[in-house]
Amino acid sequence: MSITELMPVYPRCDVRPVKGDNCHFITDDGRRFLDFASGIAVNLLGHSHPALIGAIQKQAETLMHVSNLYGSPQGEELAKQLVDLTFGDTVFFTNSGAEAVECAIKTARVYHQAVGNDEKFELITFNNAFHGRTMATISASNQEKMHKGFYPMLPGFRYVDFNDLEAAKAAIGPHTAGFLVEPIQGEGGIRVASEEFMQGLRKLCDEHDLMLVLDEVQCGVARTGQMYAYEHYGIEPDIMATAKGIGGGFPMGACIATEKAARGMTFGTHGSTYGGNPLAMAAGKAVLDVVGNDEFLAQVRTMGEKLRGRLEQFIGNYPELFTEVRGKGLMLGLKMTVESRGFYAHLRDNHELMTVAAGDNTLRVLPPLVIEDAHIDEFMDKLSAGAASYQPEAAA
Ligand SMILES: *Cc1c(COP(=O)(O)O)cnc(C)c1O
Repeated sequence: MSITELMPVYPRCDVRPVKGDNCHFITDDGRRFLDFASGIAVNLLGHSHPALIGAIQKQAETLMHVSNLYGSPQGEELAKQLVDLTFGDTVFFTNSGAEAVECAIKTARVYHQAVGNDEKFELITFNNAFHGRTMATISASNQEKMHKGFYPMLPGFRYVDFNDLEAAKAAIGPHTAGFLVEPIQGEGGIRVASEEFMQGLRKLCDEHDLMLVLDEVQCGVARTGQMYAYEHYGIEPDIMATAKGIGGGFPMGACIATEKAARGMTFGTHGSTYGGNPLAMAAGKAVLDVVGNDEFLAQVRTMGEKLRGRLEQFIGNYPELFTEVRGKGLMLGLKMTVESRGFYAHLRDNHELMTVAAGDNTLRVLPPLVIEDAHIDEFMDKLSAGAASYQPEAAA
């Protein structure tokens, strides 16, 4: 037998974390990493946050799981918290981001079928998007590397260029049900939607009775300095997927919708065995209790501006490596002149600094939202040392 016990779908590196410590983690060979990846925008409160640990411990002792066929005081409480914090009127809880996007796709389709427009099932999505790894969510992305070997894709998606409002408008046809878009593309390389684009999509949806579906799985939950990224644009979606940070490390997500958009989501149309179980609800509540208020969001914006200012200054010293800092709040990207994967590995292997590589030659910087000035200092020291010692040819 030569296959590994863990199905070998990830190119796992030899960093083997065994213990978390606030904004750092420690590996089985005793190395201590500064974690500016956060499990890819998940550990909003860092590692080992006492409020999150306490909430999970207490709920595990009290009631871990029961069926969704019973009443859920825990689910009602968290759903109300999300409804109060967002545009939404109603929430379906999931166990992952892809499932939240799946639920959003189903909600958009069934809206039209519930009002008798059976021919409207197609979502217009955007080049270089990432929506997850299920059949529907890979079909919703134009990325060939995720399709290869898994054909046929699901019908009902049409791709146009991100930030190209005219192309989005031109793609609307008799089958169009709506748009599915990340306000800030994460995997695609921290590409920020323009105001004109997001406001234009909203207007097109209003004019044609289409669903504006946002994938805020990566950019949501305080990451950008607003509770959700759509707030930066002065618009509201009809349907939104959220996950990653919402459980702070506990696997959960949610699909949030307006009453109008959810009109087809009636008894028996959707479900999940684990989705919204009491343990997940306790984790989600612990996270929202910390991040869902103006003081916390203002602090994310302050730290985001500090980090961004330092990065802008830093890249000026290395014009041969970096061209741009982009993103919002603590969802930042360094656009590089070379493939970012090599530099990410260099920081990881030689400077005990964790970041995330992304598309479009971009290095993602996604720290826990609870970072302090000392973490930014440590990050800039490691990043500067890494840039000074980096030889792209040697890495490639
Ligand atoms: C990570 C991600 C997903 C998928 O989430 P999973 O929890 O891995 O299923 C979907 N959309 C976006 C924008 C993401 O970043």
